[in-house]
Amino acid sequence: MHEYSVTTQIVSKVLREAESRRAKRVLEVKLQIGELTFLNPEQVKFWYKALVKGTVMEGSKLIIQEKRGLVRCLKCGYEGSFKYEDDPAYHIAFPTLLCPKCGGVVEIIGGRECIIENIKMVV
Ligand SMILES: [Zn+2]
Repeated sequence: MHEYSVTTQIVSKVLREAESRRAKRVLEVKLQIGELTFLNPEQVKFWYKALVKGTVMEGSKLIIQEKRGLVRCLKCGYEGSFKYEDDPAYHIAFPTLLCPKCGGVVEIIGGRECIIENIKMVV
């Protein structure tokens, strides 16, 4: 249900924007979703389609750009993607907060965003 609540927020934001510009129709919405939001793009698209029914956004295209997570090591200055660790209990790879280079603690500097990058509309 994570996707449902996030998509609801996105749709209402776009609708407000469309209303403030007196748009007749919304044609396209471009989203940027960070890896660390753990949102499933297919689920977001599914809810989007359901939520825009009967609004000026009906029939609009949703484009989702996925962004990789980015970390910075506080110890050695490493900057890059996450180190993934396989959890044998769950059979999924989890991002860890350890530096792949020195094993130090890293801070997250990217990948948590969920941004509406662009909205195309007919005014
Ligand atoms: Zn490091």
